[in-house]
Amino acid sequence: MGLIGRFLPRNDMKSRCPNEEEHRWRTYGDTRATSGDNVVINFICTKCDKRTSTFITHDEYKLYEKQLGGI
Ligand SMILES: [Zn+2]
Repeated sequence: MGLIGRFLPRNDMKSRCPNEEEHRWRTYGDTRATSGDNVVINFICTKCDKRTSTFITHDEYKLYEKQLGGI
């Protein structure tokens, strides 16, 4: 949860599932480079299927690449 907590958008971190439980986030799909220096990371809640994504810099991605792949 540490890494997801670091990268998840704050609004999504505070939100809850429709049944008021806390979301249980995991990454899904491809983390991919976008134009410029950013990498997009996709998150999905395994309880309610809410999806969100966030952008991190390429340098951040390199630092956390292994962990992000293993979430
Ligand atoms: Zn949820």
